[in-house]
Amino acid sequence: TASSTCSLLSRCEKLDIVRKELDIKPWDTSKTSIQEVITSLLDKTDRDAFFVADVGVIIKHWQKWVKNLPNVTPYYAVKCNPTVGVLRVLDALGTNYDCASRTEIESVLNLGVDPSRIIYANPCKQISALKFARAHNVKLMTFDNLSELEKIEKFFPEAELVLRIAPDDSKSVMRFGSKFGVHIDDCNDLLEMAKEMNLKVVGVSFHVGSGCQSGDSYADALIMVKSVFDMAKKLDMELTLVDIGGGFTGSDEEKFNSFTKVISEKTAELFSPNVKIIAEPGRYFAAESHTLAVTVISKRSIKQEDNRQHPRRTSNNMRQYNYYLADGVYGSFNNTKFDYAKVEPLLLKPSNKQPTPCTLFGPTCDSIDVILKDTQIPELKIGDWLYFQDMGAYTIASSSSFNGFCPPPVYYYNSIPEEELKNL
Ligand code: PLP
Repeated sequence: TASSTCSLLSRCEKLDIVRKELDIKPWDTSKTSIQEVITSLLDKTDRDAFFVADVGVIIKHWQKWVKNLPNVTPYYAVKCNPTVGVLRVLDALGTNYDCASRTEIESVLNLGVDPSRIIYANPCKQISALKFARAHNVKLMTFDNLSELEKIEKFFPEAELVLRIAPDDSKSVMRFGSKFGVHIDDCNDLLEMAKEMNLKVVGVSFHVGSGCQSGDSYADALIMVKSVFDMAKKLDMELTLVDIGGGFTGSDEEKFNSFTKVISEKTAELFSPNVKIIAEPGRYFAAESHTLAVTVISKRSIKQEDNRQHPRRTSNNMRQYNYYLADGVYGSFNNTKFDYAKVEPLLLKPSNKQPTPCTLFGPTCDSIDVILKDTQIPELKIGDWLYFQDMGAYTIASSSSFNGFCPPPVYYYNSIPEEELKNL
């Protein structure tokens, strides 16, 4: 079959196929800046906003992961950025996948990925999706409540279950504890019930929250996992899998190094070597790989008489502008609402004008469509371009086409030299 032939290919050969099929252009970052790449694309596109994705960034992060956590298999969290370039490059590297829905499972299976490389990591699943998972042999899945067990007993009794516990997520930007994860005190009951139903529990998972700020969160959660392993043992259930979830930073190397050190030490201390350790990193791989370029489509100078609405303007001489950009919070900048992102506008062409106060709006007819309020940028004109870095995580994934403004296209580049790819 196509997928078994493909599994015989080396990483480099697989990447080569992806590079050709997605038309990924080589990019020597020592010679060509991101501004030059964006400028070169302006002649080739009629779009008012687009992404430049550097798959080299994803590859470098993968190399770093393998170096720091050689015993932790990454299952990329598709929800973070489900675009074909990210999924296919990670597939070529041999990464597995965390899927949260039928559509995510389908798009990963459509790449030719074996179902054993998927974890269906949504503790609350639709029955239709559960049936779909069974039909496609996607067995590994998380659960954290009794009604989920009842559903699984009825619709997928051969599933391999991972009990998601609720760790302390107070040191993360995006917390999940109010929605997911069973309290440690209720784990024993759930394990007993699974046993009564003849369901197979294989392991324990947690998510310390996205944008985690402290390695201690992982250490504490791993201690909780160990206590669930002990509970299971008393019930004659042998657990063999620990899923440490996501939460990893891709942009702060020091922090990543400190987290991974804690994780390596704690997993070695608490679990025997035949326990499989997996993770569900999303942001780690995707965030830094994408830059968004976006043009100014309209501009409004705030007049003196508008002063009432803009009480912060102090000097009468100081002009203030509203700029309307081709992408907004209903699109890629939804990260400013859903992901607490702080975005930084950068000018494609350097300007020697003084920064002036302004607000950046998105293109829709809704006044909530504010990307950045009361910031300072040298005066822009219609048709000028801005760019925003680190826009790969939770941007395209959760953008809508409200008012007919569709998500921007992605142009792919690879900053890793050909020679280095051969050694992957
Ligand atoms: N796993 C699960 C179950 C999640 O809900 C998420 C994020 O929402 C992730 C993994 C990925 O998290 P991160 O992007 O912080 O790595």
